[in-house]
Amino acid sequence: MAYSYAGSFDASSKRRTEQEWRQEIIKVCRLMWEKDYISAGDGNVSVRLADDRFLVTPSGFSKGFLQPDQLLVIDWDANIVGPLYGANRALRPSSEVFVHLESYRRRSDIVSVVHAHPPMAVALSIAGISLAKCILPEVVATMGLIPTTQYATPSSIEGAEVIAGIIEHYDALILQRHGSVTVGTSAWDAYLKLEKLEHTAIITKTLAELGKLNMMSEEDVAKLVARRAEKGQLSPAQAEALCNECNVCAFPRKKA
Ligand SMILES: [Zn+2]
Repeated sequence: MAYSYAGSFDASSKRRTEQEWRQEIIKVCRLMWEKDYISAGDGNVSVRLADDRFLVTPSGFSKGFLQPDQLLVIDWDANIVGPLYGANRALRPSSEVFVHLESYRRRSDIVSVVHAHPPMAVALSIAGISLAKCILPEVVATMGLIPTTQYATPSSIEGAEVIAGIIEHYDALILQRHGSVTVGTSAWDAYLKLEKLEHTAIITKTLAELGKLNMMSEEDVAKLVARRAEKGQLSPAQAEALCNECNVCAFPRKKA
């Protein structure tokens, strides 16, 4: 994804029917549950339907067994839009909805946000083992480094506060001691970034156990960084992080 996130939301380029988005969210929720990225009532998924309309999962259900008509349409203030029928009248939007809305506020280019509790990524964040390292070439080449936010009380406005300044520059990040946030051009796209994040965490944990947390060589990282810079996919913030973490500087270092 290009780093230039300026401009307004362009729904026309991602047009699908609301029913198709409902089906895709249900598919992603089921996969998250099957792959143990969530347990019990954890996790939430949203899709941006229009400038001021978002389709979100409800609070308090196992996401592995949701039905398409249980997804809620909300506005920027997380108010439910439109009528709910029967048992669905008791549904409320996900308690993490403010993380989703903050992501959309800061990224006009994204269509979906996925929040999960991938266990290895969460465990490493508690152990203080960072995923913002140049270990796997495909991660450096596609998502850059995977940053970890400050701790925020789950289901509170703090979640929106700790992603500010980070979500603008990364499609995948870890909420300290809590979970992941991944964003993309569809729920499927954001889900695949969650898969990659947890896969990276599993490999990193294995390397840590082996005592071989070997980083990529600066030369090899430099090739990937140069490729991303050529394609316009390297934001200044990501370039600076790669410079600090991996000693590969696409731009001259700022003077202290
Ligand atoms: Zn959570």
